[in-house]
Amino acid sequence: MSRWVPFRLTACLLCLLLPGVAGATSGTAPFTPAEQRFIRESGPVTLCVDPDWPPFEHVEVRNGQARHVGIAADIIELVARRTGLSFELLPTSTWEESIAAARAGRCQALSFLNQTPQREAWLGFTDPLLTDPNVFITRVEHPDITDPAALVGETIVFPQGTAMEELIRKDYPNLKVLVAESEAQAIRMVEERKADMTMRSLIVAAYTIRQQGLFNLKIAGNLPEYQNKLRMGVVRANPLLRTVLNRGIRSLTDEERRQIVNRHVPITAQTAVDYWLVGRVAAVFALLAGVVLWSNRRLKRMNAVLERLARTDPLTDLPNRTRLNDLFRREVDRAKRYRRPFSIVILDIDNFKRVNDEYGHLAGDRTLQAFAVVVRDNVRGADTVGRWGGEEFLVLCPETTAEEAAQLAERLRAATRATPFEGGRTHTVSAGVAAFHEGDDLDALLNRADAALYRAKNAGRDRVEMA
Ligand code: GH3
Ligand code: MG
Ligand code: MG
Repeated sequence: MSRWVPFRLTACLLCLLLPGVAGATSGTAPFTPAEQRFIRESGPVTLCVDPDWPPFEHVEVRNGQARHVGIAADIIELVARRTGLSFELLPTSTWEESIAAARAGRCQALSFLNQTPQREAWLGFTDPLLTDPNVFITRVEHPDITDPAALVGETIVFPQGTAMEELIRKDYPNLKVLVAESEAQAIRMVEERKADMTMRSLIVAAYTIRQQGLFNLKIAGNLPEYQNKLRMGVVRANPLLRTVLNRGIRSLTDEERRQIVNRHVPITAQTAVDYWLVGRVAAVFALLAGVVLWSNRRLKRMNAVLERLARTDPLTDLPNRTRLNDLFRREVDRAKRYRRPFSIVILDIDNFKRVNDEYGHLAGDRTLQAFAVVVRDNVRGADTVGRWGGEEFLVLCPETTAEEAAQLAERLRAATRATPFEGGRTHTVSAGVAAFHEGDDLDALLNRADAALYRAKNAGRDRVEMA
């Protein structure tokens, strides 16, 4: 939830800019009198969705009320605004249950699914709400996949009831299909060597790999003809509903789709090069770039982006704990081998729990983001700052003595004090500083810094202590 925060403003601006009534839309043909009557007279369209398919869609229960959220929900909300239709969620606990409810006529539409021959027998499909490529995901050591027909004795895992499973079973009978309970489980089965590969949407893969920090996975290939063209499904008896939905869908611009996707798969960038990469991936996500070509260069690029995602904290965009651990180990090795000074600073925001308690979790999240900027702007070029966890941050300071690191920590403490945070509030931070000693390993150094931090807290907070 917290990760969407920076984009919420954009979303609201977008809402304000969008016309809310049928007929007043830009880029849409006016509705025929029959369609206008249909829109006027139709009550809320009951909608069945996949309750567990983030970031595309899931069901969030808040104050006892189930809400449809995610990329599909945002696109459908736009369609609602453009057409004047309204939607009402029929909550279910699984996708299978949603399909069954739609088949039984308990809901009038399904939110976001691929068109397949099996489904066509009982469901009408709208134009695509969104298109995105499917990719093979394997462990890093698996060779890239250029011809799935040539794979012998390999297993591929799908979450239950997906269209891709239907297609792969038909086109590649040489692959043994396994079934998992959820998206996350399918990807985890590949990670845990219970399956050789899975084939999933690029958007979902990027999201899941990032969420779970699975950096031993890679994109091993894709099949240009396998794309998710995600449409709404309309239960057969209602052709006018489909026509009206299509008018709404055709009024959506690529830019609107791109903004929605970016809001839910937040990829932020710090350098020009990253912007370029991110721009490219975003283009693929929104399928502005067209068909993804089969080439090693492109695969490498996609993998580089995924790898970056797995090593970055989504809230602050700083290196996450996994990445920090790698860099920390490297610096300890270097300090040992070359007998160079090396110090660390652990920072812990004081009384942070109060921010959440008094102003809510979202305000807490924004405060963490602002704090991350303060720290990043005040460390030196050679230092690395990352999010160690919660409201704790770790600064790695190569070529730095204990005294120099303490000065840096003092500077960070002063900068934090001097910063007006959200609502003009001030915050303080406590710091523990420790320098590498001969014979130290990573844990020993960390423990000393932790102990120093503990002393700083006990001595009244807003101070720096040295080990
Ligand atoms: P102290 O001065 O002793 O460090 O007090 P504190 O309240 O900062 O420390 P405590 O460990 O009691 O609480 C840390 C709080 O940080 C509790 C937790 O809910 C909050 N927190 C951790 N991660 C996040 C996050 O990602 N977002 C938000 N909003 N809060 C977080
Ligand atoms: Mg803490
Ligand atoms: Mg704290």
